[in-house]
Amino acid sequence: MSGARQIAADVRSGAVRARDVVEEHLERIAARDGEINAFNLVLADEARATADAVDARVAAGDDPGPLAGVPIALKDNLCTHGIPTTCSSRILEGWRPPYDATVVQRVAAAGAVAVGKANLDEFAMGSSTENSAFGPTRNPRDPSRVPGGSSGGSAAAVAAGFAPLSLGSDTGGSIRQPAALCGVVGVKPTYGSVSRSGLIAFASSLDQIGPFATSVADAALLLDVIAGPDPLDSTSSPEAHVPVLPVLDQGVAGLRIGIVDELVDAEGVEPEVRAAVLAAAAALEAAGAVVDRVSVPSVVYGLSAYYLIAPAEASSNLARYDGVRYGLRVDGPDLATMNARTRDAGFGPEVKRRIMLGTYALSAGYYDAYYGKAQKVRTLIVRDFARAYGTFDALLSPTSPTVAFPFGAKADNPLAMYLSDVCTIPTNLAGHPAMSVPFGTGADGLPVGVQVMADAVQEPVMFRVAQVLEAAAPGGGAA
Ligand code: GLN
Repeated sequence: MSGARQIAADVRSGAVRARDVVEEHLERIAARDGEINAFNLVLADEARATADAVDARVAAGDDPGPLAGVPIALKDNLCTHGIPTTCSSRILEGWRPPYDATVVQRVAAAGAVAVGKANLDEFAMGSSTENSAFGPTRNPRDPSRVPGGSSGGSAAAVAAGFAPLSLGSDTGGSIRQPAALCGVVGVKPTYGSVSRSGLIAFASSLDQIGPFATSVADAALLLDVIAGPDPLDSTSSPEAHVPVLPVLDQGVAGLRIGIVDELVDAEGVEPEVRAAVLAAAAALEAAGAVVDRVSVPSVVYGLSAYYLIAPAEASSNLARYDGVRYGLRVDGPDLATMNARTRDAGFGPEVKRRIMLGTYALSAGYYDAYYGKAQKVRTLIVRDFARAYGTFDALLSPTSPTVAFPFGAKADNPLAMYLSDVCTIPTNLAGHPAMSVPFGTGADGLPVGVQVMADAVQEPVMFRVAQVLEAAAPGGGAA
């Protein structure tokens, strides 16, 4: 055992003090976050106080919970009571949420120690964390490269050893793609299985919160803490979460695994990435799974449908930033001018692009041709996956077509950037779970992630596959 599970076990038994654990992680942050920029805000004093409270409970004979004393980074689009929550946007400048996100409450109740608010692409729109108002995050595996995005800060925090666990959000790949690029495990749970209450909305029909960790088992530990019904989120599933940690080691003998043709051969997939997926499939076969190729034809339209549906929902969700209710205000002679000046100064270029795309896709005259058509494509994707899951228990593909790319490589070409998400988007459209597991290296020795997908609420199967892949990964899996 190592990582989060080891820390929690040691703190619960009294062998190690949560305060010492947090000091060690704060030291690492102080030493290297100047370079990495994983955090918008480090919560050093709060973390020390939380750790002391955990230690006091242990001393009193209480059990602080399954995450006792484990440092955790929180993506800065998760509301934290009284603590600035920025979405890496200027428009929320000075705003402090009046409540904690449900996931923030749940990790705290499990004994975790929040060490900071992690950087992201503004409002989670991007694939490189270059769209942050607070400067980009650097990839700890190669600081001249992006960490991926939008949860680049959360991925980098775990990869750099600033915290063994972090939380991110995934609307089109924002947990899985940065996990792949930073060489850590990242999980997008089934839509509705983790409460979105207190996650600042990007595209509400797609957004999901999920864990980052250095191992599959640590990711399972965190998922089991955050998942489950929540009356504060009307889209939260009423079904109890089936814990994944207890089934992790059940193996894959007899499981049917499909390699998705359209994704393994998608535009721009690097040869080393394709080779890693095929090697992962071979490892599963060697462990007793039945592996075959499968066609999921409509996933090739996923990217186009997503870049209509997500901006459409975003244009509606972001209408609330009007200079009155939250954060920044730039005054003007009348209300409309104040609204316009505030939004012009507060939003960065990618957010403006999405609002314009979404507003256009929803406008009278274009609604049927764009938004309506995209929704039909979404239905086709759901049907194609249903057909595939009639034959297969889990599906495999690349997570990202490429390894981590240099800063600026795609920043001026939105389409090239959007193509980073070609393999991850289809499962968001379907609402299914998917996760990225490190599996060897590609160009320049940088980490490659293999994506494991499963049908809705089939996280237990997905994690069993991931666990076997981690054990079989060249060089021993996660960073
Ligand atoms: N990169 C995708 C986008 O820019 C996905 C982002 C996300 O999952 N939040 O929309």
